[in-house]
Amino acid sequence: MGKALDFLEAELQSIKDQGVYRPLREVQSAQGPRAVIDGHDVINLSSNNYLGLATHPRLKRAAIEATEKYGAGSGAVRTIVGTMSLHNELEKRLAEFKHVEASVVFQSGFTCNSGVIPVLVGEGDVIVSDELNHASIIDGARLSRAKVTRFAHSNMDDLKRVLTEVKGQFRRILIITDGVFSMDGDIARLPDIVTLARQYGAMTYVDDAHSSGVLGKNGRGSVNHFGLDGQVDVQVGTLSKAMGVLGGYVASTRTLIEMLWHRGRPFLFSTSHPPGVAAACIAAIDVMLDEPELIDRLWDNARYFKAGLTELGFNTGRSETPITPVIVGEGSLAMTLSDRLFQAGVFAQGIAFPTVARDKARVRTIVSATHTRQDLDEALAAFGQVGRELGIIPS
Ligand SMILES: *Cc1c(COP(=O)(O)O)cnc(C)c1O
Repeated sequence: MGKALDFLEAELQSIKDQGVYRPLREVQSAQGPRAVIDGHDVINLSSNNYLGLATHPRLKRAAIEATEKYGAGSGAVRTIVGTMSLHNELEKRLAEFKHVEASVVFQSGFTCNSGVIPVLVGEGDVIVSDELNHASIIDGARLSRAKVTRFAHSNMDDLKRVLTEVKGQFRRILIITDGVFSMDGDIARLPDIVTLARQYGAMTYVDDAHSSGVLGKNGRGSVNHFGLDGQVDVQVGTLSKAMGVLGGYVASTRTLIEMLWHRGRPFLFSTSHPPGVAAACIAAIDVMLDEPELIDRLWDNARYFKAGLTELGFNTGRSETPITPVIVGEGSLAMTLSDRLFQAGVFAQGIAFPTVARDKARVRTIVSATHTRQDLDEALAAFGQVGRELGIIPS
């Protein structure tokens, strides 16, 4: 190799100097409430597998049977010869589940946002975006070439200020928000956003990655949670988190979905899901409809664990969902807390700048429906012990 890539050494060194360098942890077991990670048997508090569907027998069986029948791969992009019956069935089921006219599935939630936003807005339009929106929304917004203005996180006065400023200056206005914010676990103020959007003639777009399977009846998401079915223009969700598999979907009008068949770039230019993925996603919808007790258990565990952390004296921020951050401040302290927890048998990922603000580094925890009370009690004991040792909570 020549020296063309040498500049990267200094950049990587600077990440190491800040104490936030992370090797990739290796998971050597199934993605369960307990898992073997780098040779250690630990309580897994970092998975987005909220309902345990990643290892649910019905999903596994569906994936195996579809693979036996239809093969390991789909062979093409959707628009050529990569639309199989299972893809169409999944989209029909998602549209029914979400109470919308139509839906379309992308390879991931990430490609969904990067593909959909540029179809809704372009030059001469404006995106009004919550400052804590997910990276894939930020990238999709950039790709669209629309002007991007941000409003202070979930601050409706500031949203109103921005809308007043942009009104009349642009062809179209698109308000985008996460349904549940992935780093803080708080829920977007959708009823207020919908009201403001109506007043200012804006389109509304909600990314329900962390709300699908978590909020709303049978996990239908944040729009259903607030009783706003039919009142949000575009709902994006992921099949990769609570639904336990892989993929992203858009739930909206038939017209938008057909536009995405023609203009959604990841849909047009990247191969569709293997049949086993589509079949497992269909099984995930079945399980969410047939086993609502999983969602109840998820919320029981979330409330129990959050109360335990608060009682120990940790700062859990503004969380209202199973995502509970333990906010410690400095990035290096968050990484030390995560490392020490790991030695004590708990895996909870440290998260620092630029994913969160420099002074808001944290360890993020996500409980699942499949954790037992004993798992949660052991995890709380470890948090207490390590938190006291590091001086994060009083001893
Ligand atoms: C995780 C996440 C995504 C990406 O979803 P994938 O299916 O993992 O690509 C998109 N948006 C938000 C808000 C997320 O939290």
